[in-house]
Amino acid sequence: MQIPSSKLPGAGTTIFTVMSQLSEDYDAINLSQGFPDFQPPEELLDWVSHHLAAGHNQYAPMAGVLVLRERIAEKISELYGTQPDPVEEVTVTSGATEALFCAIHAVVRSGEEVIVFDPSYDSYDPAIRLAGAVPIHIPLLPPQFEIDWDCLKQRLNERTRLVIINSPHNPTGSLLSCDDIQRLANVLRPYDTFVLSDEVYEHIVFDERRHASVLENEELAARSFAVFSFGKTYHATGWKVGYCVAPRELSVEFRRVHQFNTFTTTTPLQYALADYLIERPEHYLELGAFYEEKRNLFIELMDPSGFEMKPSKGTYFQLADYSKISSQPDMEFARWLTVEHRIAVIPISVFYEKPPAAQLIRFCFAKEAATLREAANCLLKL
Ligand code: PMP
Ligand code: GLN
Repeated sequence: MQIPSSKLPGAGTTIFTVMSQLSEDYDAINLSQGFPDFQPPEELLDWVSHHLAAGHNQYAPMAGVLVLRERIAEKISELYGTQPDPVEEVTVTSGATEALFCAIHAVVRSGEEVIVFDPSYDSYDPAIRLAGAVPIHIPLLPPQFEIDWDCLKQRLNERTRLVIINSPHNPTGSLLSCDDIQRLANVLRPYDTFVLSDEVYEHIVFDERRHASVLENEELAARSFAVFSFGKTYHATGWKVGYCVAPRELSVEFRRVHQFNTFTTTTPLQYALADYLIERPEHYLELGAFYEEKRNLFIELMDPSGFEMKPSKGTYFQLADYSKISSQPDMEFARWLTVEHRIAVIPISVFYEKPPAAQLIRFCFAKEAATLREAANCLLKL
């Protein structure tokens, strides 16, 4: 039987899978795919065991366990000064990835345009294409990776249904400020364009800066889906539990997609996360400082190396310019580093529609100090 033509003809296996596999094959230190090499908090694991034994093992409600949605709404009110309705405006999803997919499919129709800023997280473009829409890639302006406002204004038109933003930004570690958020609200005012704000690293912000959420801006929040992930916050990327906050009318459409996609998300994890959120708010309040120490250690260890790094402002990723070490293109360099020197990293060009000439790779520093030391020892020898 003939296999129909692909809906994603250009898509290979994601770079995260490719590099983690290569890392395993060559027994490398894996600083590529973003995940911690340490455990989630012990108490959270105890809560999971408790809820497994207590019988919370059947389907959760489609929009998520209510007590978790209530805790999420309270947390958002404390952090961002607006309280979403936990019943109608908060939906628990199977990771942020599912939330991104549902939000795109909730509002984007065939032939419409969606703006993404490159380097962009790799799930945006395929999800847009699967909706039959056209991704419009606008490069962020180096060296700070800021939005090119003139270009954005030029590309907006009556077909632009959605703009996707991501702050703190993967892979560059840049941040949007409150002024940027206000500027986006101003620029979008004349258009029927929604915003999908990927805020999965909301708590991982450094140097006394703070995260600017679309939820803080009343005008923008009214047209936005804000997406979060417990995986990042609780060192549990394998749990795949996230959530989406959106105004009632947008959440209705979001849930129409979600209910026929995954329908719901793992029940005992939701109960455990609800308990932990209320019992240990200090975990997320201290997460920025926790990762700032790791970023500082990694940068200090790497100081004598040939890599050039401008300290990441947020996320658990650090970009590095390797042009003093090699003239190889970044994909080749990443392979060489993994195979020959046993350090796996992520090349940056894969996050671009039209990759620039820059020689940049991404390190993940969500690792034990001993792992970072061992990696730096190898990297200093290059
Ligand atoms: N967005 C960004 C920017 C990410 O880095 C990630 C991490 N994988 C996700 C979304 C997806 O998060 P999750 O693992 O919760 O699906
Ligand atoms: N978000 C993670 C990263 O940027 C990877 C997620 C995935 O493997 N799909 O490394």
